[in-house]
Amino acid sequence: MPHEIASVLTCKLCNEKIAGPGLIVGPGQASGRVAQFMEKLTAHLGARHPKELGALHQKALEFFGLNCVMQYVTQDDRVKYQREFLRWSIHQVTLDARYSNEQLDDAAASHAEACTLAVVNGLAPALGIPEERLTRAMENVRPQIAALFLEPIKIMREKLQEPEPPPMPAGVSVVKVG
Ligand SMILES: [Zn+2]
Repeated sequence: MPHEIASVLTCKLCNEKIAGPGLIVGPGQASGRVAQFMEKLTAHLGARHPKELGALHQKALEFFGLNCVMQYVTQDDRVKYQREFLRWSIHQVTLDARYSNEQLDDAAASHAEACTLAVVNGLAPALGIPEERLTRAMENVRPQIAALFLEPIKIMREKLQEPEPPPMPAGVSVVKVG
């Protein structure tokens, strides 16, 4: 069963606080009161931020259009590209996790440090080598270990964040409408 929690939402654009009966949590139909709250939120945007509300309507139409187009199969490169471009642009709006190069470098460096420590702790007693000696030896290869960690996480970031729009296939031109 869905349940409701009490909510106060603050408008990001003007800081006005809007209280409502609650937002729905869990699957199920929104109750009438939740629908009324949504209307209140929409009405505020319409009255105070009509330009932004217009852009939201445009985004909603794009998402609807994408879902419609995804119900069909096509061999037409222009439609495929348009579908892919829509998917990409919606993804850019909803994406919540973005990582900078510095964050990835830090993550790789700390993984390399933990890896070095684990190798020293595991191998020094097993091989009967003094820990300091093995630590020094491992320090020499730590940058290479960090680079090995960095490569796959960079590839994953590009794959997940998709910083660049999809490439336009050869022979497809875009006609700007409106
Ligand atoms: Zn506002």
